[in-house]
Amino acid sequence: MIPALAGRHAPDPIASVETQVLRIPFVDGGEGKGITPKRWNALDIVLLRVETASGLVGWGEGFGYTCQNATAQLLRDMVGPWAIGRDSVDPAQVNRDGQLAFHLFGRFGITIFALSALDTALWDIAAKRKGVSLSRLLGERVRESVRAYASLVRYGTPDLVRHFSEKALSEGYTDLKLHEIEEACIAAGRAAAPDATITVDANCQIGRERMLAMAPFLEAQRIDWLEEPTFPPEDTGPWQEAAALGLSIAAGENLCTLEGFAPLIPSLAVVQPSVTKVGGITEFLRVVGAVRATGKRLAPHSPYFGPGYWATLQLAATLPEFDLFEVLYVEPEAWCGLAAPLVKGGAIAIPDLPGIGFEPDPAVVAKYRTG
Ligand SMILES: [Mg+2]
Repeated sequence: MIPALAGRHAPDPIASVETQVLRIPFVDGGEGKGITPKRWNALDIVLLRVETASGLVGWGEGFGYTCQNATAQLLRDMVGPWAIGRDSVDPAQVNRDGQLAFHLFGRFGITIFALSALDTALWDIAAKRKGVSLSRLLGERVRESVRAYASLVRYGTPDLVRHFSEKALSEGYTDLKLHEIEEACIAAGRAAAPDATITVDANCQIGRERMLAMAPFLEAQRIDWLEEPTFPPEDTGPWQEAAALGLSIAAGENLCTLEGFAPLIPSLAVVQPSVTKVGGITEFLRVVGAVRATGKRLAPHSPYFGPGYWATLQLAATLPEFDLFEVLYVEPEAWCGLAAPLVKGGAIAIPDLPGIGFEPDPAVVAKYRTG
């Protein structure tokens, strides 16, 4: 699953690590409420640029959203200085060494978000070192495009859900995800898109009793998967009860490292690692390795607009079990990467360029950089 790279190349120490924070406003048609701690109307992207002694440059992304300054500060204070001088040739080893070095700060949350950025940048470099796309470094390309779903934001009113469901369908999407938790809103999405595959993501906000009471409704609405229905998500008992009622439970975007994932995997029908949060390409692949033989679906979390988006596309190109690609259904003012591979007709053509294929747009970076 993870290619052995140690000893296959001459050492190529990490020479520089630079963190950049971007804030790119977006429009989503809603009020930006309900899921994030404050109004969410901008993409806060933590970009990491790594350069090696040989001159190779790689790009990574650590989870930002509204914690972008925390992730960036950890990269600047700890991860970056620690990484300088380390051999870049084996990203998985650097990741493991970093997890050991920073375990006092938790092998989860901001620590792993920062390591995710470093790991992705080093895999980008590893593929560029061989002159191939990351998908080819990791194995072979099993697809050149991936079906994408429109991950609609939470609108909170049936009218808006109907409007944006219809809009997404008109653009060629055949798969929608609703972040709604009220029956009327979910029903509005289904009514607007009777033939679409529809999933529901509750971001842990439905609760056990209500979820069990809603089960017949969700089944009648033909909800393909129910994502993170209950809190705390570490308590998988309610998920098992839901599964017994026929619901397919999806989760994983808030889990870091395979060790964090492992206890929850048996209770999941759909596994959703997130490359900027789980620990980069390395931990993403470890999770895939753990579920590959189980037949569970792999539908990663990827509502990103920077290297995390590009990296997830490369994983989609090489992982046979990669099911659907998540596209956050918002309109950003700009994309920070050149020639962004955008969704067309419900699918994305996956670049086959060296590394993850991400190249920053200097004009966009200059305009939207906040730190
Ligand atoms: Mg989710």
